[in-house]
Amino acid sequence: MASASVVPANRGRRVDDEKLQFETTEGIEPITSFDRMGIKDDLLRGIYAYGFEKPSAIQQRAVMPIIQGRDVIAQAQSGTGKTSMIALTVCQMVDTATREVQALIVSPTRELAAQTEKVIMAIGLHMNIQAHACIGGKSVGEDIRKLEYGVHVVSGTPGRVCDMIKRRTLRTRQIKLLVLDESDEMLSRGFKDQIYDVYRYLPPELQVVLISATLPNEILEMTNKFMTDPVKILVKRDELTLEGIKQFFVAVEREDWKFDTLCDLYDTLTITQAVIFCNTKRKVDWLTEKMRSNNFTVSSMHGDMPQKERDAIMKEFRDGETRVLITTDVWARGIDVQQVSLVINYDLPNNRELYIHRIGRSGRFGRKGVAINFVKNDDIKILRDIEQYYSTQIDEMPMNVADLI
Ligand code: ADP
Ligand code: MG
Repeated sequence: MASASVVPANRGRRVDDEKLQFETTEGIEPITSFDRMGIKDDLLRGIYAYGFEKPSAIQQRAVMPIIQGRDVIAQAQSGTGKTSMIALTVCQMVDTATREVQALIVSPTRELAAQTEKVIMAIGLHMNIQAHACIGGKSVGEDIRKLEYGVHVVSGTPGRVCDMIKRRTLRTRQIKLLVLDESDEMLSRGFKDQIYDVYRYLPPELQVVLISATLPNEILEMTNKFMTDPVKILVKRDELTLEGIKQFFVAVEREDWKFDTLCDLYDTLTITQAVIFCNTKRKVDWLTEKMRSNNFTVSSMHGDMPQKERDAIMKEFRDGETRVLITTDVWARGIDVQQVSLVINYDLPNNRELYIHRIGRSGRFGRKGVAINFVKNDDIKILRDIEQYYSTQIDEMPMNVADLI
């Protein structure tokens, strides 16, 4: 639950600063209070009860055009309230008098789709909204039961959503809004065909909203194929990293030194909560085993685990029962655990976008965060490239790194 009172004074930009720099379609003015957005009373109550007091910068700019039915492309730094904004706008546009699906949100991972459904249910508590997470790895029978009973919103992953549409269990006739969260990922090679498959089944008068912290040009260039005169709220590359997240590197000569470095950092990891990224599932398994056999307590999660196990690990981590999570890029995007203040790239990510998303698991909504990159000799080039690309600063890790958390 978010409460502005627990947000520590940020050393950098505030996420709700009206003067933040966006490249915005002309005529879009920030609206600095939820009260002045024409939001339904029962929804407004839900927003305040959830702990939101004031709209964040992206919410100030993008909520109105979405509510007004415009196609919108909304970019903002990680952890600044984009996914929450989806929940809020979807609640606003839905007519709860009918039990038809009116909004469809598609996300790249099951955990993110489920998280978004939870936020919708929480914010929409007083308006009797029915949302359903339609995600792979869960019981198909339960999906059918829920969808036939009738829900207003579906938050899902592409495969299962497509499946339910083709079975005609997910009726698309009343869908007015399609939201792609992490939209650059949803429109990238791995997902594009599935998204198009879903899109074909949706009514022609569809409103489309794209959300992400990263929107590379090749993605923006393809949006005219399925969007009409979209409102654009974009962030320049050199404004994308958050000043609240300090970034460091540790140079290691050999791969095995990474393990010793991680062990040395263990006490720092457990100050609050930490996420450690590896590039493959096998490496996650290997590192987990190796940490455990050295008597360190860690949990781990990746896409080859049964969904039940993934769910259990997520719950323990969200509840703070576990503090150190070793994982893959399944965790890179969208997952919101406010207590995470440290991210370790045990392996550097495979592209620049993933770097932003991974480090953005810490420093949520103006909180402090630290990202530490383990780099072998030939990785330094890649890190310098990232540093330059985002005009940011990645220094050698200081001895007192624990003091920054
Ligand atoms: P993003 O999708 O941009 O990464 P999220 O929507 O996941 O960000 O929000 C990040 C965190 O900030 C969440 O914990 C959320 O509850 C909180 N949050 C979002 N909007 C607000 C707000 N207006 N006021 C207070 N907290 C907020
Ligand atoms: Mg998000």
